[in-house]
Amino acid sequence: AKFVYDFTEGNKDLKDLLGGKGANLAEMTNLGLPVPPGFTITTEACKVYLDSGSEPAALRAEVSAHLDALEQKMGKKLGQADDPLLVSVRSGAKFSMPGMMDTVLNIGLSDASVSGLAAQAGDERFAWDSYRRLIQMFGKTVLGVDGELFEEALEEAKKAKGVRVDIDLDAADLKNLVAHFKDVVSKETGRDFPQEPREQMDLAVRAVFDSWNTDRAKLYRRQERIPGDLGTAVNVCSMVFGNLGPDSGTGVAFTRDPASGQQGVYGDYLQNAQGEDVVAGIRNTVPLADLENIDKASYDELMQIMETLETHYKDLCDIEFTIERGKLWMLQTRVGKRTAGAAFRIATQLVDQGLIDEAEALQRVNGAQLAQLMFPRFDLGAKSEMIGRGIAASPGAAVGKAVFDSYTAVKWSRSGEKVILIRRETNPDDLNGMIAAEGILTSRGGKTSHAAVVARGMGKTCVCGAEELEVDTKSRKMTTPDGTVIEEGDVVSIDGSSGKVYAGQVPVVPSPVVEYFEGRMHAGADDADELVKAVHRIMAYADRVRRLRVRANADNAEDAARARRFGAQGIGLCRTEHMFLGERREMVERLILADTETDREAALSQLLPLQKADFIELFESMDGLPVTVRLLDPPLHEFLPDITELSVRVALAEARKDANENDLRLLQAVHKLHEQNPMLGLRGVRLGLVIPGLFAMQVRAIAEAAAERKNAKGDPRAEIMIPLVGTVQELEIVREEAEGVIAEVEKAHGVNLKLTLGTMIELPRAALTAGQIAESADFFSFGTNDLTQTVWGFSRDDVEASFFTAYLEKGIFGVSPFETIDKDGVGSLVRNAAAAGRATRPDLKLGVCGEHGGDPESVHFFHEAGLDYVSCSPFRIPVARLEAGRAAA
Ligand code: PEP
Ligand code: MG
Repeated sequence: AKFVYDFTEGNKDLKDLLGGKGANLAEMTNLGLPVPPGFTITTEACKVYLDSGSEPAALRAEVSAHLDALEQKMGKKLGQADDPLLVSVRSGAKFSMPGMMDTVLNIGLSDASVSGLAAQAGDERFAWDSYRRLIQMFGKTVLGVDGELFEEALEEAKKAKGVRVDIDLDAADLKNLVAHFKDVVSKETGRDFPQEPREQMDLAVRAVFDSWNTDRAKLYRRQERIPGDLGTAVNVCSMVFGNLGPDSGTGVAFTRDPASGQQGVYGDYLQNAQGEDVVAGIRNTVPLADLENIDKASYDELMQIMETLETHYKDLCDIEFTIERGKLWMLQTRVGKRTAGAAFRIATQLVDQGLIDEAEALQRVNGAQLAQLMFPRFDLGAKSEMIGRGIAASPGAAVGKAVFDSYTAVKWSRSGEKVILIRRETNPDDLNGMIAAEGILTSRGGKTSHAAVVARGMGKTCVCGAEELEVDTKSRKMTTPDGTVIEEGDVVSIDGSSGKVYAGQVPVVPSPVVEYFEGRMHAGADDADELVKAVHRIMAYADRVRRLRVRANADNAEDAARARRFGAQGIGLCRTEHMFLGERREMVERLILADTETDREAALSQLLPLQKADFIELFESMDGLPVTVRLLDPPLHEFLPDITELSVRVALAEARKDANENDLRLLQAVHKLHEQNPMLGLRGVRLGLVIPGLFAMQVRAIAEAAAERKNAKGDPRAEIMIPLVGTVQELEIVREEAEGVIAEVEKAHGVNLKLTLGTMIELPRAALTAGQIAESADFFSFGTNDLTQTVWGFSRDDVEASFFTAYLEKGIFGVSPFETIDKDGVGSLVRNAAAAGRATRPDLKLGVCGEHGGDPESVHFFHEAGLDYVSCSPFRIPVARLEAGRAAA
């Protein structure tokens, strides 16, 4: 294998091998853009190193060859005493992991070459500053020295000199600091700072490989669902300097606004600064537009390059650049992260610009983003106390108690508190706290600071750079300009869409996207929100191309109506047990307690009209669309009082000698029905087979409701569904009885109801014998909740709270199988059962009604498995429609 690629050899499609940064540096190089020369060590080399503990044997020679070529091109050798070539060594995985992994700049500097650099640059101070930065970064990331030790030494030097900022240290001070730093390294590591340039480079490369497996990188990958075995590439790039004086600087830019999609000049610039200063948000930057006044030629060239990049990548790009004494250099580009709203707007803007087509536009957005846009926002009309304003870094409305460190954020959120993490600035060590918090507020740093970038990636609300707020993490408080103090535990509200920060709890209102889906806001209106217009167009593309139909899980007319407004094409699951609660619980109790047929029939005939009325409403709200009604599923004890409570009540009454007859009978029934494993017990079809008349009553209610709707000139399309079937025999018995009841009703009302009768496939045995079951079923609906429970042997009600965190941490799975379908296990049963069912009955209708029906990744799976529809809760319908479209496009 070839382990090293020159920037001239790669291209943007080689991300697997060269990582995102390396692939795009190569792409820019080949576009003729000003990229400092360099080369990329592949992810394959990293994988060999991570697997075996040492670099591949061929790597050293390959690196040497590429280094030779680089030295030739630059006309100087790495670390050459009189004119040193310096390089940066940067990580770059396939997926961007901001701030997660290591970078070392100024490799090649040493005691021997520092004066050569000074002479070449004509700047003694610059050379010593570069050298101290090298020792500091190398010491920390490569040699593992505690970074605080360097920070302290730097602070001391400033204090000794009586100055506040680094810039005020002169060459002599920095020279002393270098000596001090070298002492720190020797003392802490038992070895001297390496003076040999190639050794510096090799160690830095290895450190980048190692950084793939730091705890924070692992945590980030789990969060972002990035596979753990990809490895990182390493980019070795000749250094350019943004810290050579006022005609130098470094910055970041977006080709359009990552928060709104608007075209324009977006970015931050920092004069006379190097590398990570901007991204780390350590010093405050100026808006990119100001660069025009600082250095017009570079600004114009940058604008030109941004246009080239956008047209070339056909997407928003973000960029890191450096200006060295008036010469512009491109250090990085990639298709940039953006907010959910911007994703929709950019996708439609690019269609309008003719850069992409509708199918491509669908790939530029996703269901998770749409879900995010459906979150509520702050009520701007409500009374609120604004205490400050920062940069709107990641949208959303977050309310929570103020905490000032990650540890507290995690601790409080574990005990159920909502928290806002407030920091001066964040760094990768804050990741846990950021995950735990509702939102993040910082007082320093721009749109590209660590907090902003990471929060956007996580879809968390973030306001950054709220400078007038004085954050004091030591004494855990924040002070506003007018002296208001927010202490730990005080409630604050932050608006990531406007950057506003409020004391106390601000009320929230629905999002415009929800208002649009509800039909209360029209995309066609002249003053329609740009976001709503974009969502409307993208949804139209999705609906046009999708093959999967989308239904709702709904069991009352209100949910059904909302589902319909959201685009549902029917009901895929009406859980009838929800119709047995409230005051009807007593009737169910009577049914369970009945000892004689007369009693039982009396109880059933009391329930019948109520059920029927429910179904009439439902069929009316879904007129013309299919409604799948599932017969009673849960174990009966769920309708009875709690066993402990009732036992205590009866025991107390007995002690008082006034035990009530009904309670005694109830208690008996509760004992009789008590099961160790109710989810595996008397429920679903088993109930229907054991309690005479129960399913017949439900079927009659459905049939009569349908008949009444028909006679009222409605178009009811009921489908009757039997739960928890394990074998075709169960289904045959129920079907025979149901067909009898339906025939009776049809005759009595003089109508043909065209009712279909199908089953849920939610037990492994049902999936395995689907070919037989299809003999007796008009349709299958996969109940992936129970199927996941029974295939894995995981109690769906318990495991997520008990040991899933441990499983997720150990990487056994990246996401709960109750959330995203387990394709290899549960999914393979679904695929096989679908095929076997269709082999028996080619017109068998197939759907899914487990929670997975509204999960983006699972929707793609069901599309590929050839199902006819997915069914999910009303609020997830737009997401399912979008993902079904994306799967088909
Ligand atoms: C299922 O098991 O996936 C299902 C939809 O039924 P319920 O969640 O009601 O058990
Ligand atoms: Mg189920």
